[in-house]
Amino acid sequence: MSDHSLSRRTFLGAAGSAVAAASAAPSDLLAAPYVRRSHPSHPVVIASSNGIRGVARAVELVLRGGDTLDAAVEGVKIQELDPSDTSVGYGGLPNEEGVVQLDASCMHGPSKRAGAVGALEGIKTPSEIARLVLKYTNHIMLVGKDAQRFAMSYGFQVEDLLTPQSRETWLRWRANRGPDDDWLPPEGNTPMGVRQTGTINMNVVAPNGDISSVTTTSGLAWKIPGRVGDSPIIGAGQYTDNDIGAAGSTGRGESNIMVCGGFLTVEHMRQGMHPKDAALATLRRVVAMTPPRLLDERGRPKFQLNFYAVNKKGEYGGAAITRSNFAVADERGARIEDTAVLYE
Ligand code: ASP
Repeated sequence: MSDHSLSRRTFLGAAGSAVAAASAAPSDLLAAPYVRRSHPSHPVVIASSNGIRGVARAVELVLRGGDTLDAAVEGVKIQELDPSDTSVGYGGLPNEEGVVQLDASCMHGPSKRAGAVGALEGIKTPSEIARLVLKYTNHIMLVGKDAQRFAMSYGFQVEDLLTPQSRETWLRWRANRGPDDDWLPPEGNTPMGVRQTGTINMNVVAPNGDISSVTTTSGLAWKIPGRVGDSPIIGAGQYTDNDIGAAGSTGRGESNIMVCGGFLTVEHMRQGMHPKDAALATLRRVVAMTPPRLLDERGRPKFQLNFYAVNKKGEYGGAAITRSNFAVADERGARIEDTAVLYE
């Protein structure tokens, strides 16, 4: 990758200031001085905390010269294929009818391309299908049955994504839906407490400064069939600008969609904010856009939302409405770090 500050200096010297001023003006407006640099990027991978094994795998791949998007997909696939992670892929919790519907999206910084799938059924690794949309089509998002047929055309098998554990959890929820329904809770049945959510977002910076991001999820447990959250929405669930950085999200998707949080966080970094401050600024916008029914008596959101961000230098940060953490891996290995919080 070429170094922007170096190539611009060379150009100024060679072409004279009048021409340079005219030619460089548009990029001056778009590029943050903050990301101009004369040293290579610090390679780093960050993810939601369930991606602790994934960040280790992804950083290993980019340190060996692998592509940033391929590294991110290999990283998130560990969770998609893990039956014990009930927030993504195989074993993800289903919608209210017991059907697992998966959402995923990705962006590849160097090629400026994006791909996504929404409400995809029967395929364990939606991140791979989002990457196929990115690589082999002129489109960005495919949904539902047609996304499944698209996956099958590349040889993917349609499988039952419910595990015995996720089916049981769903049956337990259904048996306790409400006092007026016709489902009888079995004896000794414990009603489910808090509604379960989860997702994996991963953002990768390579040693040469290339950047990619992926988000994949089974969405909100017990969602209305056909509900698509923020994860497959380019600019909400994740966003990459190879000149600036990448950002993604987990938590209440509807609240993220309202602020286009992935995009907004990258725009905050473009203005010079550190990734952590960029994520916090996005959360403040989320609060401002939250309807009263979702705020408590102190005006604070009743839900959780996390943003994770990296810039081109390899600086990173995470922020959440309340206490949370995230996974990080670089040359020092993989670890869990606390996010910044909007409210203690
Ligand atoms: N953001 C996901 C969605 O709304 C859910 C989650 O991350 O918990 O579909």
